[in-house]
Amino acid sequence: MKIGIVGAAGRMGRMLLAAVSAADGAEIAGGVEPAGHPDMGKDLGSLAGLDPVGVVLTADARALFDVVDAVIDFTMPIATAAHAGMAHDSGTALVIGTTGLDDLQQNTVSSAAHFAPIIQAANYSVGVNVLEGLVEQAARILPEAYDIEVLEMHHHHKVDAPSGTALALGQAAADGRAVNLDDVADKVRDGIIGPRKVGDIGFATLRGGDVVGDHTVMFAGPGERLELTHKASSREVFANGAVRAAIWSAQQKPGLYSMKDVLGF
Ligand code: NAD
Repeated sequence: MKIGIVGAAGRMGRMLLAAVSAADGAEIAGGVEPAGHPDMGKDLGSLAGLDPVGVVLTADARALFDVVDAVIDFTMPIATAAHAGMAHDSGTALVIGTTGLDDLQQNTVSSAAHFAPIIQAANYSVGVNVLEGLVEQAARILPEAYDIEVLEMHHHHKVDAPSGTALALGQAAADGRAVNLDDVADKVRDGIIGPRKVGDIGFATLRGGDVVGDHTVMFAGPGERLELTHKASSREVFANGAVRAAIWSAQQKPGLYSMKDVLGF
């Protein structure tokens, strides 16, 4: 299976190049960064610290969509929306890891899924997908008196907050309580804001160092507190999950899928 990586020189891009080259039945068929990128023309194997693979970094994403079976995209929201348009035009499968898409960008992705298989997940690790199920279950069982707080920490380069994973965990909690997350999410607290509202789902964001991704969902009740935590210690788990999703996409019809579909949860 021929796999292309957009954002191939990024933190996740380099991990993805290594994960594709290690996967059975998959090969690196192309990699793209915007024109003028300092690594333009470099061999993609060398970019990932591996032996050369004879394929170089280019700036032509549209051409990439025409020659590969699936594209993996861990870039930035504006680029991901453009790539979804290319998946729409080419019918090529797209695996999206980029987080922080606004409503318009998300609509572009959802529309493209009528024409190509698109897999989108805020987190491609197996552990976080299991955690989402546990959070939904705990939120369903525990009464509203158990205040739900989602705490996350990431490295200091991360640009969006709260993380896509924190929002997905908040969504899982809201699903468990059968409420609309937008109605109960409390993402910013500053100044004299009064007591916490019963039923709110709070978010707290920490940024620092090289933390790959820590997430805790707390259920703080009267006399006890339940905490469910996931800690990623390597980006490899995300890269391996995304490559697994790309290989899975080969058998899929157009549609919008999640990592839970890939894992069969
Ligand atoms: P990064 O900044 O290291 O890498 C992004 C790369 O995309 C850069 O090299 C940049 O030059 C490139 N890029 C930007 N616009 C482009 C375009 N139009 N065409 C091609 N390449 C383009 O960031 P990162 O840490 O690798 O994270 C990237 C995204 O992935 C973020 O949104 C992050 O939140 C997300 N992420 C998701 C998961 C997951 O499991 N879903 C895991 C880790 C990171």
